[in-house]
Amino acid sequence: MTDTEKMPYIPFTNDELPKVESVFTIDNVLNEVMRILIVEDEKGISNFLKDGLEEEGFAVDFAGDGRKGLELASSNDYDLLIFDWMLPGLSGIELCREFRKLNQTSPVIFLTARDAVQDVVFGLEAGANDYMKKPFEFDELLARIRVQLKTRSGEQTVLKLGDIEMNLDTHRVFRNSKEIELTPKEFSLLEYLIRNKEKVCTRTNIIEHVWDIHFDSDTSIIDVYINFLRKKLNPGGKEKELIHTIRGVGYITRDK
Ligand code: CA
Repeated sequence: MTDTEKMPYIPFTNDELPKVESVFTIDNVLNEVMRILIVEDEKGISNFLKDGLEEEGFAVDFAGDGRKGLELASSNDYDLLIFDWMLPGLSGIELCREFRKLNQTSPVIFLTARDAVQDVVFGLEAGANDYMKKPFEFDELLARIRVQLKTRSGEQTVLKLGDIEMNLDTHRVFRNSKEIELTPKEFSLLEYLIRNKEKVCTRTNIIEHVWDIHFDSDTSIIDVYINFLRKKLNPGGKEKELIHTIRGVGYITRDK
């Protein structure tokens, strides 16, 4: 187990946002680059945000007006969006409404210089998840962004491995959109391997997590189940092998 896996998830509400710079780093929470769209017409603010967020490891796109913002938001897959309230073209509220009409569920944080309670209510009613009053501290915005991303990643019920998709709610597995029938034990085994993608899963790890038993003598049952899984995931033998054997140790899954 690496240090990052031991990082506890410390939940906090908006009232007790951490003042420290990094409770979570993007790497240890989500293991992938998160994309953020900023729609803000004040160059000073957008540059400051873009630089700050890129330094934190985010990939950032930017639009200076509402229409361009909607165009980007509807043609790209952002993990989070930051909309200013007062924008040329479309206001932040209109933008948010239009964005939600596209069935987009990514979190939206809006920035407002106005602090009338009514404005905040409008923003949240338009589908925003949180708001920041200008002027704001970058660290506070960062903490709010992380809360939103963490909440969202916690809701994720589909695990992916290459072209395999596992839905944890419905317990259905698909490869290239074709359904694969797994037994509950095969399902648990695949889930454990995918959750630990790119990491070596030893036979002991697997037996303890998937079979929930501790024994160090015979773990050959794992090899039997891995064979079942491999056959089911690749019935014609033409698909890529995504479960790899680490001789004498265990198994590792990789997307390619
Ligand atoms: Ca503005």
